Amino acid sequence: MHLTRIAPTPSGYLHLGNLYNFLLIQEKAQAHRLAILLRIDDMLKERVRDEYISDVFETHAFFKIPYQLGPTNSTDFIQFHSQHHRLPLYEQALNALKENALVYACTCSRSEMQQTAAACACQHKNLPLSTPQAAWRLKKSPNHPITFHAETGKQTFPFPQHLRDVVVRLKNGRPAYQLASLVDDVHYGVDFIVRGDDLLPSTLVQLWLAELLGYSGFSKTVFHHHALLKLPNGEKLSKSAGDTSLRALIKNGLTAEAIRAHLNSLYPF
Ligand SMILES: [Zn+2]
Repeated sequence: MHLTRIAPTPSGYLHLGNLYNFLLIQEKAQAHRLAILLRIDDMLKERVRDEYISDVFETHAFFKIPYQLGPTNSTDFIQFHSQHHRLPLYEQALNALKENALVYACTCSRSEMQQTAAACACQHKNLPLSTPQAAWRLKKSPNHPITFHAETGKQTFPFPQHLRDVVVRLKNGRPAYQLASLVDDVHYGVDFIVRGDDLLPSTLVQLWLAELLGYSGFSKTVFHHHALLKLPNGEKLSKSAGDTSLRALIKNGLTAEAIRAHLNSLYPF
């Protein structure tokens, strides 16, 4: 069985943009006979709140979005499905990168990192990977474009320059998003990924990281990148935009059908 996933980050209430993504995943799953895994990416613990996790389940129930694998409620999620249970898997991947000398320690501050996103001088300092408060970054970035499978055939893009020497382990020792997301997809056997086109650079980085880690099966994954939902005034929807949160719309008495119709008027499928 081929598998896709709905993978929200519980760092805010879900909004219309999330719903658009979920419904598109549902549509692709029907079209390609894919099972759906619900995977809640809660590794960024400082921004995660219980009410945001509950919101994911409430949203799926309200809009009757089916999924076949994953947690059924918040308690089940925390007991069995949180990314924290998969820390050993992320550690294993990080150790493999370490053993193959593919990472270097970086002690740049967050603002220094943003300024020198493409790389930093730390690679030449040879700091021990055990240096306290050091992030781990990939030593090697490809000098060739990256090709992946889309529904309509292969697509090729240049490797994103701003994600060279990408961080795979954060200063606090936790796995970075790029690594955790890849390890999870490989772990569950996800082979069809639907995501916003803001994550296209992440797709390219994760394909490269998979190559370094020897996850050969990941190169067969089919990717569908969709345009991000924008408000009629052209503004991007965000979790901070309270009035577009699904919760606010539901509180205002809108039915699931009305919200779907509203979504369709903003952004026809
Ligand atoms: Zn650095």
